[in-house]
Amino acid sequence: MTTALLVAGSVIVVVAVIAVVFAVLRPAASPDEKATATRTVSATPSPTPTPTPTFDKTRFSIDDPMSLWVVVDKLRPVNPPSFVPSDLVDANVPAVFTSTLREPAARAVEAMFAAYTAETGDSMRLQSAYRSYEVQSQVYGESNQDDATTARPGFSEHQTGLAVDISPASGECAQNECFANTLPGQWLAANAWQYGFLLRYPSGLTPITGYTFEPWHFRFIGTELAAELHKTGVQTLEEFFGLPPAPDYQ
Ligand SMILES: [Zn+2]
Repeated sequence: MTTALLVAGSVIVVVAVIAVVFAVLRPAASPDEKATATRTVSATPSPTPTPTPTFDKTRFSIDDPMSLWVVVDKLRPVNPPSFVPSDLVDANVPAVFTSTLREPAARAVEAMFAAYTAETGDSMRLQSAYRSYEVQSQVYGESNQDDATTARPGFSEHQTGLAVDISPASGECAQNECFANTLPGQWLAANAWQYGFLLRYPSGLTPITGYTFEPWHFRFIGTELAAELHKTGVQTLEEFFGLPPAPDYQ
């Protein structure tokens, strides 16, 4: 009995000594282990993690022609067809014909043109801005009703007062694909989003937009939406808002 107790006691002592030695010799936790432990511990008291802010795609109308988010394409005409924006002004920038645009788009164009000139010493001009239903009828007729390049009256973004065609001050490559290789063409492709503009008819996306590459045509959508498109890499309004591709009229 005594012997058995002594043996048991010795075993307990040996185990305890081993445990103490192990604890003392154990290497200190690495910074990574500490960080992991801290994260685990601090995450526990908060049952609901802070949600990642999501962009509210329903915040503004995509149907109302006065909405900065209105989507106009071959399946989505300006509604009503006689629509005329209520806040048209003339942007204070060089223009071939008129610089008439909706007020927020006009102010954004002025800021964008000024930034371009400040950065490059070069200048740009408006090739085209707001176009009424009647003017669009003329433009469409003059294009020989070319649906690949020109919108039918009532289906043009230019009627919203939010679309601009931009060319170099020299007029080089005006409304031509070679505009993409000019200094303003390159600068706009990289920077227009910061001023709330979207290159609306990108290269290779004709099956979605219905138009061939137009490196000169920019659509004002506001800085918030433009930044979200830039961040997510989504190139068209149709894809962003989950709308059907609009290659052709119905
Ligand atoms: Zn245009």
